[in-house]
Amino acid sequence: MKGFATLAADLARRKQEHLYRTRLVMQSPQGAEIVIAGKKYLNFCSNDYLGLANHPDVISAFQQAAQEYGVGSGASHLVNGHSHYHHQLEKALAEFTGRPRALLFSTGYMANLGAVTALLGKGDGAFEDRLNHASLLDAGILSRANFQRYRHGDMEDLSSRLEKSDANRKLIISDGVFSMDGDLAPLPQLIATAKKQNTWLMIDDAHGLGCVGTTGRGVCEHFGVNQEDIQVLVGTLGKGFGTAGAFVAGSEVLIETLIQQARTYIYTTALPPAVAAATLVSLKLAEQESWRRERLVQLITMFRSGAQERGLTLMASQSPIQPVLVESSVEALAMSEALKALGVLVTAIRPPTVPTGTARLRVTLSAAHSSDQVEQLLDALGKAKLNRE
Ligand code: PMP
Repeated sequence: MKGFATLAADLARRKQEHLYRTRLVMQSPQGAEIVIAGKKYLNFCSNDYLGLANHPDVISAFQQAAQEYGVGSGASHLVNGHSHYHHQLEKALAEFTGRPRALLFSTGYMANLGAVTALLGKGDGAFEDRLNHASLLDAGILSRANFQRYRHGDMEDLSSRLEKSDANRKLIISDGVFSMDGDLAPLPQLIATAKKQNTWLMIDDAHGLGCVGTTGRGVCEHFGVNQEDIQVLVGTLGKGFGTAGAFVAGSEVLIETLIQQARTYIYTTALPPAVAAATLVSLKLAEQESWRRERLVQLITMFRSGAQERGLTLMASQSPIQPVLVESSVEALAMSEALKALGVLVTAIRPPTVPTGTARLRVTLSAAHSSDQVEQLLDALGKAKLNRE
C-alpha cells in the first residue's frame, strides 16, 4: 500500500485544476451526427476526416473477411498471425506512399515506439519538434538515445542542436500535420537540414494521409518530396482511412530492420485480418474519391471565415484540424460544455496534451459534414463565446 496513498489526492488535484478527463459513451457509429446517452449531437471531434469509418463498402469488406478469416488474428505477425489480407495491405500501402515496402503495426502509438526504438539506442540522438505527438516523444525517451526537443518548426534551433551533438546516429522526427495545431511541418527546410547534417528524417503523417495532397498522399505529396528525402514515413489507419492500425513505409533495409527489431511489432497480436481487408477498400475510396478532399477544403474555408467574423482566435492551419484557441483550461471546458448544451460536440484540449496557457477547442471537420452543419457549429461557437463574455 505504501506510496499509493497519494493517488486519491492526485485525482482530486486534477479535478481542482480542471484537468480531469472523462469519457463519452457512444451509442452510434462515427458520422456527422452521433448519439450519446440517447441524445443526438453534431460531431466535430473525431478524426474520421474523410467520413469512411462507417462507409457501407468498408463495412461489407470487413464482414466478408470476418466470415472468411474469423475475428482474431490469433498470434503475432512473426508467429502465424500475418494473414493474406495483412500482406496485401502492406503492398497496397507501399504503392500508395511510393515506398519500396510498408509494415503494418497494431496502432500508431506502437508504430512510433517500435520504429524509433529499433533505429536508435544509447549513443544516438533523437531530435524532435516540441509539439510532436505524445507517442513520438515517448518513443524518443524509450529509445535511450539523447533526446532533444527543438522549438516548434524552428530550423535554427534544430540545426544548432544537431551541430553540437556528437551522437552516432541522429534522427530528426516530426509530425507531418501537427495533431493539436493542424499546421504542416516545414518539410523542405527539414529535408535541407537533414541532408546538410547527413541524418535521416522520420515523418509521422497520421493526420495528413488521406486528407492532404491532391490524391491524399499526405504532406509528401503536398511538398513534392519522396523516399530520398524522408527515409521513415509513418501513417495511421484510424483517422483519414477510417479503420484502425498503422504502418511504417520506407526502404527494404528499414522494413527488414523493423521486422527483426521493433519490439512493438514482434511482441503483439496482429490486427484482425478483417481490419486489413476493410482498409484495402477504404484506401481505394480515399484515393479515388477526391470529392472528399474537395469538400474538406470548402468546409475549412467556410469555417475559418465564419470563425474570424465571430472574433474567434484560430491557429495557422489549413488542415481539417481547426483549433479555436481559448487559453485557460476552465474556459475551454466551459465553452465545450456550452456547445454540448447546444447539441454540438467539440473537445476541450488541455495541458499536458498542449502547453500551459494554450487550452483550445479542437474542432475537426469531416467530408461527412454539410455546409449547414458547419454553419450550425459557427452559430453555436458564436453563442457560447457571447455567453462567456
Ligand atoms: N501519431 C499522431 C500524430 C497522432 O495524432 C496519433 C493519434 N492521435 C498517433 C500517432 C497514434 O495513432 P493511433 O491512434 O493509431 O495509436
